[in-house]
Amino acid sequence: MSDSEHLLEVNDLHVEFRLRDGIAKAINGVSFYLDERETLAILGESGSGKSVTAQAIMGILDSPPGFVTGGEVLFQGTDLEKLSPKARAKYRGPKLSMIFQDALSSLNPVFPVGWQIAEMFRVHQHMNRSDALAKAITLMEKVKIPAAKERVRAYPHQFSGGMRQRIMIAMAIALDPWLLIADEPTTALDVTVQAQIMDLLKELQEESGMGLILITHDLGVVASVADRIAVMYAGRIVESSDIRPLYANPLHPYTKGLLESVPRLDQKGQDLLAIGGLPPNLLAMPAGCPFNPRCRYAFDKCRAGEPPASEEIEPGRTAACYLAGRLEGAHA
Ligand code: SF4
Repeated sequence: MSDSEHLLEVNDLHVEFRLRDGIAKAINGVSFYLDERETLAILGESGSGKSVTAQAIMGILDSPPGFVTGGEVLFQGTDLEKLSPKARAKYRGPKLSMIFQDALSSLNPVFPVGWQIAEMFRVHQHMNRSDALAKAITLMEKVKIPAAKERVRAYPHQFSGGMRQRIMIAMAIALDPWLLIADEPTTALDVTVQAQIMDLLKELQEESGMGLILITHDLGVVASVADRIAVMYAGRIVESSDIRPLYANPLHPYTKGLLESVPRLDQKGQDLLAIGGLPPNLLAMPAGCPFNPRCRYAFDKCRAGEPPASEEIEPGRTAACYLAGRLEGAHA
């Protein structure tokens, strides 16, 4: 990889779902990049397109009905969209890897967990059974599963939710990928376990130098671990920023609304302001800015045309809003 290349660069990605009722434009010109050792959080409500973006990067979109209709997914400078399905599959595991929210349904209930981890080495590295099992135990120790040697023959249902997620992480990092995408990795877990899983991901990243994309609907989860954040709404990135300035001064009304709905320890007793309304129906998008029906700052121009997405409002910060950077003085 040359110095000028990012580990991952997504340029103007478009994805649509061809459904019986019409075409749902799930991703509309999404662009972002990620470097080694970096953590990018992709934040949005369900249906915002964050998981579809991840699936498009991995090349695992359910197709049909999902189709990538435009854009590039450059991984170490290679456009994965131009590869054959067979060539692209070779990237999954050793180069790009992904973990999902629901570890229980991702693991096979009828095989011991150690066997399932060992399978990664048997399939990809043609290891013999006992070497692969020994590697599986090492990995289980690496993701801090207590008594790994004894538990390597246990079945998924014999582990807690947090431990199952650790097993999924072990499988995802088995082949030492350059990039790990974690799609809502802690949503099903309680708060203490959430923090432990985040710490583990961070620790593994520090050790290996991999890039990490964290997909979440929960701003609280990413605050302490992400370097940068991309906020998605209706298949667009509506704000992208380093994490600190975003928390201190959100540029987009949607980000501001999300921040206002996160409980803060320093503001005990204050009401949480949830964002009113629902995300738009992708088959019947509102005219103008997609957020306008829910935006407390909306004015005539917002209903007439969509604001540009890639305009830099502050150095390194973009926001797709006519009032970006001027919300403080605007009439809400
Ligand atoms: Fe709200 Fe208008 Fe900005 Fe859209 S462009 S987020 S409707 S103020």
